[in-house]
Amino acid sequence: MSAVRVAITGAAGRMGQRLVALTHQGEHTVVTGATEVSTHGKIKHDAGLVAGIGEIGVTISPSLALDIGRADVVIDFSSPEATVAHARIAGEARVPMVIGTTGMSTEQAAAVASAMEGLAYVKAPNFSVGVNLVLKLLSTAASILSDEYDIEVVEMHHRHKVDAPSGTALRMAEVLAEARGVSLETHGVYARHGHTGARSRGTIGMQTLRGGDVAGDHTVIFAADGERVEIGHRASGRDTFASGAIRAARWVVAQTKPGQYDMADVLGL
Ligand code: NAD
Repeated sequence: MSAVRVAITGAAGRMGQRLVALTHQGEHTVVTGATEVSTHGKIKHDAGLVAGIGEIGVTISPSLALDIGRADVVIDFSSPEATVAHARIAGEARVPMVIGTTGMSTEQAAAVASAMEGLAYVKAPNFSVGVNLVLKLLSTAASILSDEYDIEVVEMHHRHKVDAPSGTALRMAEVLAEARGVSLETHGVYARHGHTGARSRGTIGMQTLRGGDVAGDHTVIFAADGERVEIGHRASGRDTFASGAIRAARWVVAQTKPGQYDMADVLGL
């Protein structure tokens, strides 16, 4: 089987650098494109040098349009506006995508879906195998533990993260709400300050912490009178997300049925 040719957007970013490194080092994948925002200081630099793995012979270009012709798949961990633009370019060239960008509005997600019409693409707020297992465990826990158990989702990320709560925390809350047969719109509580009154039964609280270099911690607490159940996940680095996204890239190029998939589909969960 020939290697899957991957174009990586946001190649100088925190995730982009690890994606370049692991795609290049992978036996079944090769980096054939790397892009950055056109004003970025690393444009025209070798993507491997930027990622700290030595030269790989792929320079960082200012637009995905310049690289798409050499790609079997695009891996995109950039920003919501950039992801929409990348989806339009990939959609036009009929190239599938793996999208890790979080914090997209409903309109941006719809724009991506429309650009990807007729193609398979994987979009997930978290590409780690462990988190996707945790999502399964949460669904089971929430359906067994009644609303006598107050649910709080607590997440912590590094100080540079721009969206809150994290896409993963939101997905966890969605899974919990679904298992309880309620909507997150009506039952989600995103902040508490001042005289809040007592906690309303059945609500799902979300707490966001930011600081340091934390790659991603998530804990869901089910608290009742007399006991507390905690289910959580801690990422100690970004390679878990990058290798999951590369696994998704290899999987999506083999899909014949178009549509949006998530990491649970890739993992067969
Ligand atoms: P980052 O800011 O370090 O990297 C993003 C990069 O995208 C930057 O280098 C930026 O210059 C670049 N970019 C912006 N616009 C661009 C454009 N038009 N073309 C090309 N590149 C462009 O951020 P990060 O920590 O790497 O995270 C990126 C995204 O991935 C965030 O939304 C984050 O929440 C998400 N994320 C998802 C997962 C997951 O498993 N799904 C894991 C980690 C991070």
